[in-house]
Amino acid sequence: MPNQPDGTEIQSVLDDIAIRMAGEADRGEVASYIPELARVPLNRFGIAVAPLHGEPIIAGDAEMPFSIQSISKVFALVVALGHVGASLWRRVGREPSGDPFNSIVQLEFERGKPRNPFINPGAIVVSDVILEHQSDEADPHPVLDLCQRLADAPDITVDEDVFASEVATGDRNRALAYFMLAEGNIRGDATKVTERYFRQCSIEMSCRQLAAATRFLATGGEGADADIAGVTPERVRRLNALMMTCGCYDASGEVAFRIGLPCKSGVGGGLVAIVPGVGSIVAWSPGLDKKGNSVLALKAIEDLAHRLGWSVF
Ligand code: GLN
Repeated sequence: MPNQPDGTEIQSVLDDIAIRMAGEADRGEVASYIPELARVPLNRFGIAVAPLHGEPIIAGDAEMPFSIQSISKVFALVVALGHVGASLWRRVGREPSGDPFNSIVQLEFERGKPRNPFINPGAIVVSDVILEHQSDEADPHPVLDLCQRLADAPDITVDEDVFASEVATGDRNRALAYFMLAEGNIRGDATKVTERYFRQCSIEMSCRQLAAATRFLATGGEGADADIAGVTPERVRRLNALMMTCGCYDASGEVAFRIGLPCKSGVGGGLVAIVPGVGSIVAWSPGLDKKGNSVLALKAIEDLAHRLGWSVF
C-alpha cells in the first residue's frame, strides 16, 4: 500500500516542486502541429493532488485551464465501455504499440485494429462507438458531460479555437479513420467521427479539475462516482493497467520505469498519474519531449512520487 502523507506534507512538497520547476531551463517544446496549442506560454507549470476525499491540494498554475488532448481518451474509454462493455476489445487491442500516437504503419499490418485505446486510431474507434450509441447527434458531447460530472464543474468547456485548429490540420487523423473505415472497423461517417474525436481532445481543464475528475481511478471506482455507467472496480483496475502499459505512447515503458504509477499524457502538456488507494496527481507544463510528453510534468511527478514514496511496485 503506498504511503499516505497528510495534506500539509503534500502541500509543502508541491510548493517546493512548483518553485523548482519555475527555475528549470530545459522545458521542451510546445506542440506546433496543432497551431493553436503553440500559443500557450512555455513558462507555465501547475500541479495538483486530489486525495480520495476532500479538496485537491495545488501549487503553481493549477487553476489555469489547458487543452487535455489525449487525456480525454481515458474518459472516452469509460463512456464507450459503458455502452458496449468487453465487446469493445474485438475492435481495439490492449497492447502497447511502441510507435508514436499517430502512427499509421502498424494499422496496416494489423488490418485496421488499433493496438490500444490510448493511441489516436484506438481513440477514433472509441469515438465511433460513442457516436453510434448517441441517440441524437446534437446531444451534448458525452465525454465533456462526463468530465463535468466527475470534476463537479459544469463550466468545463471545449476550446473552440483549438477544435478549429485540429479540424484544419487533422489530415493524419482523418487518414487513420478512413483506413479503418476501409477495413470495416469504423461504422459511422469517418469525418464526423474524427470531428467528435477532435472535440473531446479540445476540452479545457485545469490541473485541479482534472485531478478531481480522475480521482475515481484511485478509489477503485467507489464513492461519489459510483453512479457513472460502466465504472466497476474491475474496470477501474483495467483502466489503470492500460494507463501503465499504454498511457504515454511509445514512452510508456520509460514512464513506468521512472514514475512507477499508471499515467496518461496529452500533447497539451498535461500528465495524470494514479496512486491507487491514495489519490490522483496532475501536472501540467506545455513544453513536450520528442515523444509528445510534457518534460516538466514528467519531472515533477517523478520527483513527487519519489519524495512521498508513491509507486505501485
Ligand atoms: N488531438 C491530438 C491528436 O490527435 C491528440 C494527441 C495527443 O495528445 N497525443 O494528434
